[in-house]
Amino acid sequence: RPWNFSAGPSALPLEVLQQAAAEMTDWHGSGMSVMEMSHRGRQFTQIRDEAEADLRELLAIPTDYEVLFMQGGATAENAIVPLNLIARGRAGKADYILSGIWSSKSHKEAQRYGDIAVAASSGYATELDGATQAPWTWFPSVGSWKVRPDASYLHLCSNETIGGVEFPDWPDLAALGACDVPLVVDASSHFLSRSIDFSKAAMVYAGAQKNAGPAGVTVVIIRKDLLGHALPVCPSAFDYSNVAAADSMFNTPPTYAIYVAGLVFKWLKKQGGVAAIEAANMAKAQALYSYLDSANFYLSTVHAPDRSRMNVPFFLRDESLNHEFLAQADAAGLMQLKGHKSVGGMRASIYNAVPMEGVQALISYMQNFAQRHG
Ligand code: PLP
Repeated sequence: RPWNFSAGPSALPLEVLQQAAAEMTDWHGSGMSVMEMSHRGRQFTQIRDEAEADLRELLAIPTDYEVLFMQGGATAENAIVPLNLIARGRAGKADYILSGIWSSKSHKEAQRYGDIAVAASSGYATELDGATQAPWTWFPSVGSWKVRPDASYLHLCSNETIGGVEFPDWPDLAALGACDVPLVVDASSHFLSRSIDFSKAAMVYAGAQKNAGPAGVTVVIIRKDLLGHALPVCPSAFDYSNVAAADSMFNTPPTYAIYVAGLVFKWLKKQGGVAAIEAANMAKAQALYSYLDSANFYLSTVHAPDRSRMNVPFFLRDESLNHEFLAQADAAGLMQLKGHKSVGGMRASIYNAVPMEGVQALISYMQNFAQRHG
């Protein structure tokens, strides 16, 4: 198979696809495809329960957190989060960190539901297309983060898929004088690529279609004390307390997507878990960025400490060669390297399912291309 560098939906481990194919018409002798099972039946309940247990084990999710399998993607969460949480604080306020396109979309959507402020920004207050660093770099020096102590929550996007900006760590809100403000994190594009410190985050959510499975399921991990504050207008199916009380079966869940995500969790356990995949991801990113920095032919513009391990945007210094670079990459079995339209250039997404071998194949191709055109 060619190497697939798509930002999402993206490559899944071949083993997972093969297992899903082998079980397609008859899951474990049940005589049914998972697609055909009642979500309330014995078999699917087992699939769901195992998926949750494996995810809890992989991320060491504390017992005072619920794991919800929802729908609507991270885009729906941009509304579902304020609908559920903004009324937590009586002031109806929430604060947002702006570090790129996805966090600014979250910030924009939240404005429909309350008093929303920017606690820190990468510098482009309204237009974050060009953000190349996390506001982290400025903290806690000049212009340190301004989190309102009575905010219902603080939101950040820990890996900006388009800009390729990843927070090296998550803030300690107590140090900002806002210890009662829960941190809510959109981790969509690096979920399961590294460990999560739940002492810092009260809620983490992710659309599955990068590291965790097929599009259609959104994983929400939420501390239990945040439940029960939904606004009266919040759709019942999106009220976290309803979803939690019904074990994610308040309505029919995306059963097949949950099943494939469960297979991905088992695959990850076989790779040695999140610590092992995190080490592999660091080695992959290190190899690619080192090459980019050493080759005069290419350019990586993201501030080094904030460079994403998952999404690596880069440019050819001579952009007139872009078309040729992409066409020849495709012919060489290196797919979907075109950068996001708002950034331009190239982007290699090197999620969990792309091994070092795929990254080495990309580097060899880039070296070869540079030699031929340099
Ligand atoms: N947040 C991040 C970080 C993303 O990368 C994406 C999609 O790529 C989204 C949110 C939106 O996700 P969805 O399209 O599943 O709604």
